[in-house]
Parts: sequence; C-alpha cells; structure tokens
Amino acid sequence: MLYTEPKVTVLARPQFAEPAHLPVAWKGESSDGERLAEFAGRLCYMSQHNPAGRTTAEYLENIKRQRHGSVLEHANYTLLFEGVSRSLTHELVRHRAGMAYSQLSQRYVDESEASFVVPPAIVGDAELEGAWRAQVEAAQAAYVALVEQLMDRYRWVDDKVHRRKMAREAARGVLPNSTETKIVVTGNARAWRTLLELRSSEGAELEIRRLAVLAIRVLQGEAPAFFSDVEVYDAADRRPAARFLHSKV
Ligand SMILES: Cc1cc2nc3c(=O)[nH]c(=O)nc-3n(C[C@H](O)[C@H](O)[C@H](O)COP(=O)(O)OP(=O)(O)OC[C@H]3O[C@@H](n4cnc5c(N)ncnc54)[C@H](O)[C@@H]3O)c2cc1C
Repeated sequence: MLYTEPKVTVLARPQFAEPAHLPVAWKGESSDGERLAEFAGRLCYMSQHNPAGRTTAEYLENIKRQRHGSVLEHANYTLLFEGVSRSLTHELVRHRAGMAYSQLSQRYVDESEASFVVPPAIVGDAELEGAWRAQVEAAQAAYVALVEQLMDRYRWVDDKVHRRKMAREAARGVLPNSTETKIVVTGNARAWRTLLELRSSEGAELEIRRLAVLAIRVLQGEAPAFFSDVEVYDAADRRPAARFLHSKV
C-alpha cells in the first residue's frame, strides 16, 4: 500500500477533576485540558474568583502573550500517527522536552508487506512516482530475500523469535526511508506548540510539515485556546504552512 496522506488519531486527552474546595469562577466554553491549565495558572496567584472576568480562552490567550507557558505543560495529548515515513519519525523524535514516543519496531515486525509513503514532492507526477516505486519495490524484494537467507544462516538458533529478530534487524538495512511506520506521540500542550511551530514552518521538510499542519488542526479541535494564535496559510510553494503569533511560549 502507498500512502499519500498521513492519518492522525487522538488517543488520549486530559480529564480535569476540579477540587471542590478550590472552585474557579469559569467563564465561557472550554475543554478539560484548557481548564486544567487555567486552574494551574490561577493557583499561582489564588485568583480562582476570576477578578478580570475572563473566559478560559481569554485567560489562556493572555498566558501565551505573556509567555507563561509552563502552565500549558499540565495538559497532555496523545496522538497516533500512521502513514508516516521512517525519515519523518527520525526528525520527529528529535523533539525531546515534554514528549514521549512509542514506535513500531522493525526488529520485531515483519516488513515483507510494509507500506510506503510517497514523498509529497513526488505525488501527482506519474514518471517520478514510477521511478520511486521501482526502487521501493526492489528494496522490499531484497528485504524478503535477505530475511529468508538469514533465517537459514542462523538456523542453529533454537529460539525462533530471536532468530527472526536477528534476520529482520539485519535485513531492514535495505528498506528505504519511505517505509511507512506508526508512532504514538504524547506531548504536553507547550511541547506540542514548540514541535508544531518548528515543523509546520516553511523551512520544514514537506512530509513532516504536512503532518504538523494536520496535527495543529486536530489539536485546535481538541483545545482551541492552546492554539488560537496559530494561523495556517498557503505558502509561496503552494503548500500549507503555519505561523505562531506567540512564538515559543
Ligand atoms: C527545519 C529544520 C531543519 C533541521 N535540520 C537539522 C539537521 O540538518 N541536522 C540535525 O541534526 N538536526 C536538524 N534539525 C533538528 C534540530 O536541530 C532539533 O534537534 C529539533 O528541531 C528539536 O528541537 P529542540 O532541541 O529545540 O526540541 P526539544 O528537544 O523538544 O527541546 C525544546 C526546547 O527545550 C530546551 N531544551 C531541550 N533540551 C535541552 C537541553 N539538553 N539543554 C538545554 N535546553 C534544552 C530548548 O530550549 C529547546 O528549544 C532540524 C530541525 C528543523 C526544524
């Protein structure tokens, strides 16, 4: 199977349990994650009575404007990314602070039937797609052959699971960067903002930029106040990019 778009699924979002002894005078609609961040921010000044009469969205806008982003760290969101390439996840996992990752293992999982992600710059050009596809299919055929030969070479290893792992971890060396992978990514709202700002910008690689723009849209749906200052626009290269008004909160 060839992927031309990533798939993003929300796996987990915050659940806020408001303490009865410290109630906040909430205003406006908001999600649990946004309320959790507002609660944390208000605790710093014991301003639960909401003296400025702000809605949660207004309160969090002010937090972002003042770059007081540590309160955003309380709200964690877990996303499942599918239909992304190994080269994309190689870049993704460089984002360390506030992020957690669990990715499909090429040592354990058989890649004989692996899918591949068509690089965005190639999509829609039949000639380029054909050349790319020929390379990918040849690499996959080489992988299958290597696994078979390695299983035979190490037939004296009794533990079949271990033998398969030995074969696959060596054979994966011929799989291309475009091999599709799946990764579970958890981040707090501040860390997501940093990651998504860097990876949705015009300077970012096209596939991760496309994913970042999609993730922004998904997270804007989850917790609009955390991403209200983010504008998605069509860049000069005719692809969507995003800009953050309150950069690096
Ligand atoms: C367009 C683009 C091109 C890139 N090209 C390359 C490349 O050619 N080669 C390459 O190797 N990488 C490249 N990178 C990756 C880049 O160098 C970073 O590794 C990646 O963007 C993660 O950024 P970060 O370290 O700020 O993120 P995080 O690890 O999420 O950190 C977030 C922030 O926390 C703070 N922080 C985190 N860890 C520390 C620490 N140990 N000490 C002090 N402060 C810390 C910093 O303020 C940091 O900005 C590129 C990234 C982009 C966006």
